[in-house]
Amino acid sequence: MPGYEVMGPEELAEIQDIFARGAILFRHGFDALRGDCYKVREFEQAFAQAMGSPHALAVSSGTAALRVGLAALGIGAGDEVITQSFTFVATVEAIIESRATPVCAEIDATLNMDPEDLKRRITPRTKAVIVVHMLGTPSRLPEIKALCDAHGIALIEDAAWGCGGSLNGRALGSWGRLGTFSFDFAKTMTTGEGGLVLFQEQADWARGAAWHDHGHENNPAVPRWEDTRASSGFNFRMMELQGAVGLAQLRKLPDIVKAQRRNRELLWQAIHDLPGITPREVPAGSYETADALVFFVQDNAAARRCREALLARGLATKILPEAYTWHFAGTWTHMPELAAAHGGELATAFPQSAAWLSRAVSLPVGVKLREEAPALARQALIEALQLQEVSA
Ligand SMILES: *Cc1c(COP(=O)(O)O)cnc(C)c1O
Repeated sequence: MPGYEVMGPEELAEIQDIFARGAILFRHGFDALRGDCYKVREFEQAFAQAMGSPHALAVSSGTAALRVGLAALGIGAGDEVITQSFTFVATVEAIIESRATPVCAEIDATLNMDPEDLKRRITPRTKAVIVVHMLGTPSRLPEIKALCDAHGIALIEDAAWGCGGSLNGRALGSWGRLGTFSFDFAKTMTTGEGGLVLFQEQADWARGAAWHDHGHENNPAVPRWEDTRASSGFNFRMMELQGAVGLAQLRKLPDIVKAQRRNRELLWQAIHDLPGITPREVPAGSYETADALVFFVQDNAAARRCREALLARGLATKILPEAYTWHFAGTWTHMPELAAAHGGELATAFPQSAAWLSRAVSLPVGVKLREEAPALARQALIEALQLQEVSA
């Protein structure tokens, strides 16, 4: 929850800087009027550097970032793209929009993609795999990357929840051939609406940059209205106001993640010893963004009781168990393309994922934590799990 909690004078100062230098809100051109102020471009460079990657392209949303990434790789009709059954609808929407066939793999105890199930779903038509670091925990990247490399399949990371996290010291979003980020208002860092694609290869960046801007190559040899083009495209550009906010938020990102990790630990220490609570599995070498504290209880009825007891104390849950239907492909009967790829019957398509998700509980974690929250969480779970507190 995070970026919006620390929105303040730094973001405002970056916006005022645009107005002080010419008030040009478009990322391209107007060179004589803008006092050398290019916030989106500066944001892209700073973000790429922070993620230890060569190229970044800022776009209008995280969903747009996925769509632009698929376009940059030339993925389209007749291709299959495999993602995971537990993600936000946007991941599958982007595949459908690119006219490729969406396929979902099961998740495992990490609540991210199960590499064994992925292996079973790869076909000669599979062109890309999109792993999602759901709720801020890294996917099993070494295993999945090895599988993709062995089959010549492009690895894409949907790092909407992974911004500021890493695995084995390498930033999430920089393991794949490309990684996508969301800066919507609920994400770890935010520009209100916004997103970004991180590229490892210059040619992918060039195709993506042109495609997100109607095919514009932004050829420096000619003015924009005479610009050269090699492909058609669309408009998913970010504007300067968002770039300005992004610059200020990016500088705060390491501290946001540190604060979330500390707060999650305070919550976990208050509840970890309760019988009936099992932690989510976390791959070795993970540095999680800790946007959420996720654990398993006995069954779905217990998960629902946890939610009720937490709400009664002014605490909340996040996505699990309540917003399951926006994040679990087994419920997406409104997506005929996805249903068709899974034999027409989504409700029974992901039994392993359904088993994990139905008994998962997720508490939101932010930069700010009410002092009494850990003790309240403990009380709530004792009540929900029908335990007795044994006083010392
Ligand atoms: C938020 C989110 C997106 C979409 O980002 P928007 O900026 O809201 O379009 C995509 N994938 C996942 C996993 C997300 O959580």
